[in-house]
Amino acid sequence: LCKMQLLDGKKTAKAILNTVKIDVAQRAATGKKIPHLAAILVGTNGASQTYVNSKVKACNEIGFISTLIEYEEEVSEMKLLDKIQELNEDMSVDGILVQLPLPAHISERKVIEAIAASKDVDGFHPENIGRMIMGEAEAFIPATPYGIMLLLEHNNIPTKGKHAVVLGRSNIVGRPMSILLSNNTNPGNCTVTVCHSRTQNLNEICSQADIIVAAIGQPEFLKAEMVKEGAVVIDVGITRLEDASKKSGYRLVGDVDFEQVAPKCSFITPVPGGVGPMTIAALMKNTYKSCVNGD
Ligand code: NDP
Repeated sequence: LCKMQLLDGKKTAKAILNTVKIDVAQRAATGKKIPHLAAILVGTNGASQTYVNSKVKACNEIGFISTLIEYEEEVSEMKLLDKIQELNEDMSVDGILVQLPLPAHISERKVIEAIAASKDVDGFHPENIGRMIMGEAEAFIPATPYGIMLLLEHNNIPTKGKHAVVLGRSNIVGRPMSILLSNNTNPGNCTVTVCHSRTQNLNEICSQADIIVAAIGQPEFLKAEMVKEGAVVIDVGITRLEDASKKSGYRLVGDVDFEQVAPKCSFITPVPGGVGPMTIAALMKNTYKSCVNGD
C-alpha cells in the first residue's frame, strides 16, 4: 500500500496569495496601480453569495480593491449588460466577474461575451477559451482548472506522460481541465480521457487513470473500486447536503467517497479545503495579471 498524502488546497492557496500580497504591497510602495476586482451578484442563491463573499474577502486580505455590485433576481438583462459596459470602460477596474448561475431570463452567453476579454478574469469569454486552447500565455484561464494546475505545480505532482481522466465536460471546469492537462506544459503533458454522463465503461476507464479529476456534482460518486492504487485524485465537486448537526444546516460533500478512496491514493484533495481555496487563489492571480497588463 502506498502512503496517502493530502493535497492541502488551503495551505497552497495561502502560500500563493501571500506572494501576490507581497507583490501588491511592492506595487503600492512604488506608486503603481493596485489590482481592482469588480464582482456582480444577481439574486440571493446561498452558494453564490458564499462564493462571492469569499472572493471579496480574499481581495481584502491581499490588498486588492474590490467592488461588489448586487442586483435583485428580477434585474433586466439590459441593466446588467449596461453595468458590464460601464465596468469595461472604467480604467480603475482590472477584473470583472459575474457570479454564475444567472436567473433563467438572463442569457449567460450574452453576459459572458459582454465582458471585455482583457478584464475577463474568470476566463469564460470565447476569446480567452480560444487562446487557452492554443496555449497562449495571454489567456485568462478559468479559475477552477487553473487553480488545480497551480495545486499540482506547487506540490510537485508528476504529470508528464500520465493518463488523466477528467469526469465532467462543462465549459467552466471539465473541458478546460482536459485541455490544460493535455497541453505541452508542466504540469501537463498528460494523455487525457474526458468522461461524461453518456460514457460507457466509466468504472473501467477510471481504474486505468494515474490522475482523476472529478467534476460532476454527484456526491461521493467515485468509489474505491474505480481507483487504481497510487492514483492522484482531485475532487472538484461541491454539493450541499442537509445536516442538522451543522450550524449552517448543511455540510459540503465532494464527488469522491473520501473515506473509501483516500487509502488507495498517492495524493488526494479534501472537500472542503482542496480545490475551493485554489479557485480563489487562481482568480486573484488572474486579476493581478490583468492589472500588470495595464502597466
Ligand atoms: P455541470 O453540471 O455544468 O457539469 C457536470 C458534468 O458532469 C457534465 O459534463 C455531466 O455530463 C457530467 N456528469 C454528471 N453526472 C455524471 C455521471 N453520473 N457520470 C458521468 N458524468 C456525469 O457542473 P460544473 O462543471 O459546473 O461543476 C461540477 C461540480 O464542481 C459541481 O459540484 C460544482 O459545484 C463544483 N464546482 C466547484 C468549484 C470549486 O471551486 N471547487 C468551482 C466550480 C464548480 P453531461 O455533459 O453529459 O451532462
